[in-house]
Amino acid sequence: METTRQPRLACPNAIRLAIGLMVAMVIGTSLLVWRPRTADLFCAEPTPPRSSSPGAKSSAEVTGDSRYVQARKRMVEADLRGRDITDVKVLEVMGRLPRHRFVPKDLQGVAYADAPLPIGHGQTISQPYIVALMTQAVRPGPKSRALDIGTGSGYQAAVLAELCKEVYSIEILKPLADSARERLAEMGYRNITVRTGDGYRGWPEKAPFDIIIVAAAPDHVPQPLVEQLARGGRLAIPVGSFFQELLVIEKQKDGTIRRESIAPVRFVPMRGEAEKAGR
Ligand code: SAH
Repeated sequence: METTRQPRLACPNAIRLAIGLMVAMVIGTSLLVWRPRTADLFCAEPTPPRSSSPGAKSSAEVTGDSRYVQARKRMVEADLRGRDITDVKVLEVMGRLPRHRFVPKDLQGVAYADAPLPIGHGQTISQPYIVALMTQAVRPGPKSRALDIGTGSGYQAAVLAELCKEVYSIEILKPLADSARERLAEMGYRNITVRTGDGYRGWPEKAPFDIIIVAAAPDHVPQPLVEQLARGGRLAIPVGSFFQELLVIEKQKDGTIRRESIAPVRFVPMRGEAEKAGR
């Protein structure tokens, strides 16, 4: 009997990674503001870790594999400082945090690329620029109490934990919440509490919050989140369906609300009550 053999396609790792990145962007599970530039994805020259700042762990403990130090430096200089990220604390923290520990093993080589990356369950870790933009917009301080909605990999929660006093993080998908909780505990964070649940209603028992960051887009601003914002507090949230805008909502000292749209974005949709609630 004769059989025909299918030619085998050669698929070197670089091509697979490029395809992975393209798929991540195209399927729109992205948290992406795309500003085209040549990204140097594979920087891996070892250099000493940078100095520490206040946070749950010292930089030597959390920085991890020194192969990634150069890649992080490139990310900070080109993708963050090279755009409009000017908050030195945000730049310092993101230049130190081991983002590669928040992505699947086979994507660690591109963990510092200017793109969101898949983290399983159809979700993504946000593009670094977006994490920086949202963090800068809510102006965290050492006494801030933060609410992070859409824990995902836990990366945004870790950035906040380095800059705030306490972080409360809610993730609707249990497997993601469990793995993020485990990862953050392993990395030594003791000021982050992760729970599985629908973030639409916030976390009333822990309110009010000085900072709220939302990483999944509803088509309207959930009223419970505005209510749980402390006076002087700020909420960064993507709103919309296909076309979304990143809103920063500030509750002034007198209780009045100021609202500003700071960028067009593309986030995963907010699941749960947001899908039913409507405007
Ligand atoms: N901040 C994350 C980004 C995760 S992507 C990180 O740094 O990796 C957005 C996440 O929001 C997804 O994990 C998704 O499951 C979650 N999500 C969607 N709707 C949600 C809801 N109503 N409540 C809480 N999490 C939600």
